[in-house]
Amino acid sequence: MLRSHNCGELRIGDVGESVKLSGWVQISRDFGALTFVDLRDRFGITQLVFNAEDDEALCERARKLGREFVISAIGLVRERSNKNPNRATGDVEIEVKSLEILNASKVPPFTIEDETDGGDDLRMKYRYLDLRRTPVQQNIIFRSKLAIETRKFLASMNFVEVETPVLIKSTPEGARDFVVPSRMNPGQFYALPQSPQTFKQILMVSGLDRYFQIVKCFRDEDLRADRQPEFTQIDCEMSFVTQEDILQTFEGLTKYLFKEMRGIELPDFPRMSYDEAMERYGSDKPDVRFGMEFVNLNKVAKGKDFAVFNDAELVVGINAEGQADNYSNKDIKKLTEWMQRPQIGAKGLVYVKYNTDGSIKSSVGKFYTEDDLKVWLDKFGAKPGDMLLILSGEDEKTRKQLNELRLEMGSRMGLRDPAVFKPLWVVDFPLLEWDEDSERFHAMHHPFTSPKKHDIERMLNGDHETMKALRADAYDLVINGVEIGGGSIRIHDRELQSKNFKLLGFTPEEAEAQFGFLLGAFEYGAPPHGGIAFGFDRLCAVMNGINSIRDFIAFPKNNQGRDMMIDSPSPIADEQMSELFLKSTVPTKEEI
Ligand code: ASP
Repeated sequence: MLRSHNCGELRIGDVGESVKLSGWVQISRDFGALTFVDLRDRFGITQLVFNAEDDEALCERARKLGREFVISAIGLVRERSNKNPNRATGDVEIEVKSLEILNASKVPPFTIEDETDGGDDLRMKYRYLDLRRTPVQQNIIFRSKLAIETRKFLASMNFVEVETPVLIKSTPEGARDFVVPSRMNPGQFYALPQSPQTFKQILMVSGLDRYFQIVKCFRDEDLRADRQPEFTQIDCEMSFVTQEDILQTFEGLTKYLFKEMRGIELPDFPRMSYDEAMERYGSDKPDVRFGMEFVNLNKVAKGKDFAVFNDAELVVGINAEGQADNYSNKDIKKLTEWMQRPQIGAKGLVYVKYNTDGSIKSSVGKFYTEDDLKVWLDKFGAKPGDMLLILSGEDEKTRKQLNELRLEMGSRMGLRDPAVFKPLWVVDFPLLEWDEDSERFHAMHHPFTSPKKHDIERMLNGDHETMKALRADAYDLVINGVEIGGGSIRIHDRELQSKNFKLLGFTPEEAEAQFGFLLGAFEYGAPPHGGIAFGFDRLCAVMNGINSIRDFIAFPKNNQGRDMMIDSPSPIADEQMSELFLKSTVPTKEEI
């Protein structure tokens, strides 16, 4: 072994021991007679001391050690005179007797410290160096432990871990597929799974009863900070269960993981219907760490002289408690502009300030008397010092915009504490959603989701409006405004599944070509089944109160979907292209 101990384990009790440590040079400090080197590995940092009076040549070699050199040192553990209480090994140091340089290092392009001076791009290019930093390493270690605990829990519940293929045929989960050309089947392509959905259902038909997999999924979507083209799910499926059984099982998993990983005992998760979530928060993944719930003002704001409100389908607002004094006209103008950015697209923003002196000031004061505005304030239960923020327009759009404003105000007011965890189940999702552009229904979850039992009859015989009202046995687990997981009870009957495909605009031929295998399997004794998938990267991030999932992925891609370290994607050789029967549509130099 190149070491007797790691760099994080020596304590005062080890004083007098002869030890051998190996690791990276964090920093070397030369004080003439003494040279101190901080030696780092995954487990911690230990201070090495070289004494010029004992061995000038050895000390000289130590002085020359650069950052990130890999060394091995043999020496005696001794008590430090000035202890470092911030370090687990801070009571001791190693009086070095011999030093071996195992490898030199170029000067790293950024500092390998908890707070680094490296920008995002640089750190992604040199990911192997970024991964040497303790906070990044801790995230990757957290992820590993979370996977291990997940396996422990699910195994204890009789789940079987099954690997499903990565080269498959597309599963429509609503995003674009990544495809892989097949050399042996000219002109044909595999798709990378957006999820193992159909395979896990087939496993239920096969009698596996309870399946799970911690699995990579691929979706070719436009990227945001919390999205990656490849991400990981804890994917699960169960036979002979109701929605209630699934919620109980995965509430159990979530509680177990919080307890094991963070020492947090979560209380039972509240449940909220999709309709209620939209009504109260304008979102199907509400952050319920704080209130600031929507109040509908249609009844009290319409019918006066303010045409904007009169013409709107919905007038709705939130109460930013205690904010009246914090927002000058200029601040409100800025907030309005923030709401008008194309990402949100609000037309305007109306405010009512209930000043601490009891006076009322509003941007629509011309159209409403003070008594009118008092009625509004009453609806919110507002107190002096509060400020109402109100939007109007088409129902769904306005709710979405107000959701953004609520989250922004929640953040500004410090109501979204990353150390507080508020999970909930959102249930009773619509089965279908009407898409105006394509004039088609889309599955709100996916095409395999079952309508609620009492809606099956209506689904088989209903008209267009009935279809919109159908509810599904579909559910999402939401924590702190982040969708952690989603799933549903599935259709397990061929006729109903065919009908669903038809509603979604598939011809019987298309349904057969794409999903014949599943429809076929349903004819051989498919048990009732259902499941769920957790976003594993997101779960890691949320459990640590961090927004970006990238921090928990060892080798993430950037916003353009590029891996900066290996420089991918990249062109392939002409030979490879022709072997795959691919023709480049990128113009050649001659063609230009
Ligand atoms: N396959 C679904 C998804 O990826 C989850 C499920 O329904 O189990 O969202």
